[in-house]
Amino acid sequence: MKSSEIRQKFLEFFESHGHVIVPSSALVPGNDPTLLFTNAGMVQFKDVFLGQDKRAYVRAASAQRCVRAGGKHNDLENVGYTARHHTFFEMLGNFSFGDYFKRNAILFAWEFLVDTLGIPKDRLWATVYAEDDEAADIWLNEVGIMPARLVRIGTSDNFWQMGDTGPCGPCSEIFYDHGPEVAGGPPGSKDAEGDRYIEIWNLVFMQYNRDASGQLHPLPKPSVDTGMGLERIAAVMQQVHSNYEIDLFRDLIAAAARVTNTQELSSNSLKVIADHIRACAFLVTDGVIPGNEGRGYVLRRIIRRAIRHGYRLGQKQPFFHLLVNDLAHVMGQAYPELMAAQEHVTAVLRQEEERFAETLDNGMEVLEAVLRQEKQMLGGELVFRLYDTFGFPVDLTADIARERGVAIDQAGFEAAMAQQRERARASGKFSMQAGLEYTGLPTEFHGYETLQQDAQILALYKQG
Ligand code: ATP
Ligand code: MG
Ligand code: MG
Ligand code: MG
Repeated sequence: MKSSEIRQKFLEFFESHGHVIVPSSALVPGNDPTLLFTNAGMVQFKDVFLGQDKRAYVRAASAQRCVRAGGKHNDLENVGYTARHHTFFEMLGNFSFGDYFKRNAILFAWEFLVDTLGIPKDRLWATVYAEDDEAADIWLNEVGIMPARLVRIGTSDNFWQMGDTGPCGPCSEIFYDHGPEVAGGPPGSKDAEGDRYIEIWNLVFMQYNRDASGQLHPLPKPSVDTGMGLERIAAVMQQVHSNYEIDLFRDLIAAAARVTNTQELSSNSLKVIADHIRACAFLVTDGVIPGNEGRGYVLRRIIRRAIRHGYRLGQKQPFFHLLVNDLAHVMGQAYPELMAAQEHVTAVLRQEEERFAETLDNGMEVLEAVLRQEKQMLGGELVFRLYDTFGFPVDLTADIARERGVAIDQAGFEAAMAQQRERARASGKFSMQAGLEYTGLPTEFHGYETLQQDAQILALYKQG
């Protein structure tokens, strides 16, 4: 079953159960300036859940484009390393605004997976929050799941909250067992980090309101928010283990191989490029432009990582922008806005490629020379120089070093950055050293904002 059919079947299923189909909102959230990107289906309904917005319906379903490449949800460092993470993905979701609750949410999900999609029951596992006897009871006594495949989890993984205060509640997640050929243990076990049991669907039961003192008060009208990754369920339906082997990615990876002139079809770099073109093209479609701060800097970092992967495959000419056309072939029907923005997106990516091409080669030479000597840790001064002179975002340098098992000195980088800031201050804020000119970036000083972002990225990177 093709991805597009699964998307369609999902929406039809929930429509037939009284849900209104709501189109995907943009990746730049219209209602929340604190959120970097739309990272879940519920984002466009946040105010409805908070009771600050009313809709003409109490049940909705959507296929929402999402990006998780910065902020609280950041999967950038997982891309190319796990079978299940993308920076850009589609989240299929059904929502109840004070209408049905746990029972229907669980029964709908089960019916869709088992009856509509025909997934064998014995491949499915479910988790509930440790204290959520109500959900456990529905799974055991109404669905009839084998007790051995229902796992109680007491960690925050199974308790969702919108923020430090506000709506929150337990979750129940559904996992698919890809079989013993893949390493990894069931949810909740000590080797659950493997990719054998893959989380496909998260059902969130918004049950409480947390007040400023941390106390939980039952909501008068509890709600439901669910999310299922389209690429993950497509992998299940197409009987492949990795998301990168599904129909949509097969086409994109073939296109990436074509534009980079690569024969090595199993290269991880092709997966990364295929992932990144989706994120970058949709971000530009939704109004983000590569830049030095905030959303624009996240976009720039993803583009530069993609370009570097092309370089790794031996492609030193601009190639990335050429993939926009292939992406439009694969996803344009579902996303007419991408189709309409195609030329603009191509031009923006091309310009960014040309700009980075001016420094990439020299930067790589410097970095390669050091990596030939250094087997443990890249010094902060070097990381800073790559950043400052060659336009290598810190996470890009870390990504290259990681491939060789080499770490980078975060504290040293921060110290070098702080020194730079001092120098800039001493000599008047805007007269930066000559080095920056090479990056083609504006000479205005943006180091401070990007330092904070880079430090965050590095912290995540170090956590593994
Ligand atoms: P994981 O534990 O695998 O990182 P998650 O618990 O962070 O997933 P949720 O926040 O519960 O994910 O999102 C709901 C669903 O969206 C997940 O069950 C999964 O199917 C999908 N999903 C989440 N993150 C990604 C991603 N980076 N790429 C593809 N699909 C994703
Ligand atoms: Mg995650
Ligand atoms: Mg999870
Ligand atoms: Mg989850």
